[in-house]
Amino acid sequence: MFEKIVIANRGEIALRILRACRELDIKTVALHSTADREQKHVLLADETVCIGPPASADSYLNIPAVISGAEVTDAVAIHPGYGFLSENADFAERVEKSGFVFIGPKAETIRMMGDKVSAIKLMKQAGVPCVPGSDGPLGDDANTNLHIASKIGYPIIIKASGGGGGRGMRVVHSEATLLNAITLTKTEAGAAFGNDMVYMEKYLESPRHIEFQILADQHGNAIHLGERDCSLQRRHQKVIEESPAPGITQAQRDKMGERCIQACLELGYRGVGTFEFLYENGEFYFIEMNTRVQVEHPVTEMVTGVDILKEQIRIAAGEPLSYKQSEIQMRGHSVECRINAEDSKTFIPSPGKILDFHPPGGPGVRIDTHIYDGYTVPPYYDSMIGKLIVHGETRHIAMIRMLGALNEMYIEGINTNIALHMELVKDVAFLAGGVDIHYLEKKLGI
Ligand code: ADP
Repeated sequence: MFEKIVIANRGEIALRILRACRELDIKTVALHSTADREQKHVLLADETVCIGPPASADSYLNIPAVISGAEVTDAVAIHPGYGFLSENADFAERVEKSGFVFIGPKAETIRMMGDKVSAIKLMKQAGVPCVPGSDGPLGDDANTNLHIASKIGYPIIIKASGGGGGRGMRVVHSEATLLNAITLTKTEAGAAFGNDMVYMEKYLESPRHIEFQILADQHGNAIHLGERDCSLQRRHQKVIEESPAPGITQAQRDKMGERCIQACLELGYRGVGTFEFLYENGEFYFIEMNTRVQVEHPVTEMVTGVDILKEQIRIAAGEPLSYKQSEIQMRGHSVECRINAEDSKTFIPSPGKILDFHPPGGPGVRIDTHIYDGYTVPPYYDSMIGKLIVHGETRHIAMIRMLGALNEMYIEGINTNIALHMELVKDVAFLAGGVDIHYLEKKLGI
């Protein structure tokens, strides 16, 4: 096992990584910006290195600074968390070339999955169902493109192969605007992602977002941990996630899980990963793979009992998976609310000092957060300040428990979205299960 790991991230995930390291008896190095000296994981880490000023570009995204942080502390491996450098193939490559272990897949795998056209091609080869669409990138011939679109059927969506974070997509409802939309998306993609390759897909009008968690070691073993439903989204950002997904049968889970495992084996995938699907009318359609740990991993941990972070570190250290597929059972139901420092109605970020914080507790309640009394939420980063996760024997019990926990949670000094979550976990359609990805925005009147 590794002796010392560098945590190249901040916030709740940095603390989550630190907790996993402690249980594995691994020393930790917290790399932080000047704005993050008072972060909880920085206070708890064995060693700390300040890697730059507040702006992410100068600190958490500064590759030479992160690698020097590992060098000066004599660490063995680097954990990138999520966001920041976690899906940057060049970073993964530089980490390994500098003699450290990157806790994640090989750089070439990250690169392949980061390019949507190549990811979709690989998934099709592996038998993973994809959205009906163009066979690869679109060329310049207008007639061919019109023909492809009419074969798929409108509405369609033009997507940039190098796109991410919900950017680089355009929905087209009829032939009249198709060619113009392709040109516009190409130009934007070239400017934003340095790659103007675009492709076409059928636009699904009311899908749910369902994703599968997988783990794959370096010895040819891969398992899946079932699925999560993350359909409650605002501006492509997930707000509430749950596992299992309402209405998904064990037969569907086994079938899709097995397809994802097969894809991992064919890719020679290593580490933790998520296959994201749109789900409509009983069918799954692959949209992308995330090659890192995800914000919503705790709901899967709560229903399966598997510590995903510890497995991820063990895999990177070359150990075999601790579980066989037959040992994985989903028990009960888990829900997660992302707690943001923002106004509950306007969504305007609300950085500032936390004057009083009372976390909720009781059976089946988990809170992953780095905040504490007196902590100041800096204005420079993502507004998520923690995650409230509950587990219950049934979905109904989990929702009641979540409402109680939200009621109990008290944060003074900044605005939070707790009131929005309280409204959502009482929402009749959400409680019935299976709302689509547009439900929340419609409810909010956006
Ligand atoms: P990104 O990498 O930018 O997150 P994704 O391919 O994951 O891009 O798509 C982001 C979101 O865009 C999806 O969650 C969904 O809301 C919407 N979307 C993408 N493809 C389609 C499609 N074919 N039909 C309907 N909505 C889509």
